[in-house]
Amino acid sequence: MGEPVNRRTFLAALGLSGATVVVSCSSDDGSSGSSGPESTNGAPATSSTTTIVAVPDAALASTPFTLGVASGDPLPDSVILWTRLMVDPAAADGGGAMGADPVDLKWEVASDEAFTTIVGSGIVTAEAAYGHSIHLEATGLEPDTEYWYRFSVATFVSPVGRARTMPEDSATPEQLRIGMASCQDFTEGFYPAHRAMATDRLDLVFFLGDFIYESKSSSSARQVPGGECQTLAEYRLRYATYSADADLQASRASCPWVVTWDDHEVENNYTDLVNDGGLDEAAFRLRRAAAYQAYYEHMPLRLDPPAGEDWRIFRTIRFGSLAEFFVLDGRQYRTDQACTSRADALVPVDSCPGLAEVARTMLGDEQESWLSDGLAASTTTWKVLAQQTVMSSLVFAGLILNVDQWDGYPAARQRLLGFIGDNDIDNVVVLTGDIHSAAAGELALVGADATRTPVAVEFVGTSITSGTLVDIVPGGADLITADKFPGVAYINVVNHGYGRCTVTPTEWRTEFVVVDTIATADAPARVDATCITPAGTPSVTRV
Ligand code: FE
Ligand code: CA
Repeated sequence: MGEPVNRRTFLAALGLSGATVVVSCSSDDGSSGSSGPESTNGAPATSSTTTIVAVPDAALASTPFTLGVASGDPLPDSVILWTRLMVDPAAADGGGAMGADPVDLKWEVASDEAFTTIVGSGIVTAEAAYGHSIHLEATGLEPDTEYWYRFSVATFVSPVGRARTMPEDSATPEQLRIGMASCQDFTEGFYPAHRAMATDRLDLVFFLGDFIYESKSSSSARQVPGGECQTLAEYRLRYATYSADADLQASRASCPWVVTWDDHEVENNYTDLVNDGGLDEAAFRLRRAAAYQAYYEHMPLRLDPPAGEDWRIFRTIRFGSLAEFFVLDGRQYRTDQACTSRADALVPVDSCPGLAEVARTMLGDEQESWLSDGLAASTTTWKVLAQQTVMSSLVFAGLILNVDQWDGYPAARQRLLGFIGDNDIDNVVVLTGDIHSAAAGELALVGADATRTPVAVEFVGTSITSGTLVDIVPGGADLITADKFPGVAYINVVNHGYGRCTVTPTEWRTEFVVVDTIATADAPARVDATCITPAGTPSVTRV
C-alpha cells in the first residue's frame, strides 16, 4: 500500500501524471474529507466555479471495488454514497488486503448515466479504522431528481450506482415506488430476487434486517468462510462474502437503500444485551460493538459511526407530502423474549403469564415516545413503519407461532396501536421482515368482547433466501393460510422474493414478487399477489 497522495500533490502533478482529469462545475475545491457524515464534499449545481479533480494514485494490485457501491438515506438535497474498498474480499482477516494506510478516492455525481454532466466531485479518504469504507454525503443536489455516481482510484473505476433525491417536504408527488426486502441467508441459495428488484428502477428500497447471518455454514447451497461471527474481523469477512454477490450489488446500486437491522446482524434472537450464545454480558457488549461497527462499515447510512455497543439507528425518511417512513430498531432496546427465545417453539398462550407484563417493551421507552410523537406530528398522507418483526397476531389453536414477534410483546403492541386509534392517525402502514414468509393484513385493536377495530395495515415481505415457514412447520403450506387469521388477506409461506409497493395519494398497492427457486441466480420472478389499501381506510384487499 503506497502513501495516500494528498490533494496538493496530485493537483500539482496534473497534466504530468497522466491521471484521468474531469472538470466539474463545483465551488468545492475538491479537498480531502473524512469518511464521516460530516464530510460534505458536495457541489452546489448552481456554482459557476470550475474545479479540476484528479484521480488519486495508489498502489493497488487489482480493483478495490469488489463490493460494489450503494447509496442511502436520501434527503431533498443530498444522499449518502457508500463503498468499501477490498482488493481481496476473501482475505481471512476481513481487511480485504488493503493494509493499514488510508486511501484517497475520487467521487463523482452526474445527472446522466454516461457521466457527461458531472454535478459534483471531490476526494474522500477511506480509513482503515472503518475497514476502508466510505460514507460520503453528496450535497447541493436538486430535489426529486435522479443521479448517478461512481468512485475511482488509480486506474480503477467502481461500478456506477443510481441514486435519487427526495422531493421537498412541501412537494406533492403523485407516486412513490419502493421495494421491501429482508433475510438473505447466503448459504441457502442465490439472489434472483435481488436480480429482479435491480431492474425495477425503484425510488427506494427498504431492507428490513438479516442482511447477513452470523452463524457458520452447515450443509449449504453456498458456503461462507469461518465459524459463527464474534469479532470485528469475522463480521467484516461475512459482510464481504455477502456483498461480493453480483445480484446483491446490482440491487444495491439500483436506487437508494434505507436499512435497518434485525437479530442476525449480531446474533440469533438477541435482545438488548441478552444473548443466547452463552457469553457473559461484558463479552456480549464487545461482540455487539463489533457487529454494530461492521454494520456501519457496510451500509449507506446517514449516521455517525457507533462508539461502542450503543448506537441509535432509528430515524425518519420523508418523500414530500406522500409518505414519512419511521425506520425502527426492534432489537437494541427490547425486553428479552418471554418463556422461550426459540423462534421455532410454539408457545401456548395460557402457559406464559409473563408475556402480558406491561413493562415488556419492543422499542424501548425513548424510541416508543419518539415514534408516538412523530406519528402524531406527521403531515404526510402515509405514515410508514419500516421495521423487523411481525406485528399482526399469529396465534392459532391457542398457540403463539413465534414469541420473538410482536406477539411476544402484546402490551407494547397495544400501546402503539391504541395510540394510533385514540389519535385517529390515518394511513399507517407497517412494513415487516424477519418471518421469511409473505403476508398482508389489517392491524386491529381487539376489545374485551373480541371485536376488532382495524387501525393500520401490515405488509410482510418474504425472505430473499432464508428458509420459509414451510421449512420449520411441517405441512405449513396447508396449515398456515390467510383464512385462519382474522383480517389477513394474503399469506405465502413457501416462496422467496420481495415486496414492491406503489404509493399514491389515494392508494397503497403492494405486489408480492416471488421466485420459484433460489437454486439458480437467474430464476424468473413473478407477481404472486397484489394487495391494496385505499387511503382513509385501514383495510387490505387482495385483487
Ligand atoms: Fe431472517
Ligand atoms: Ca430475524
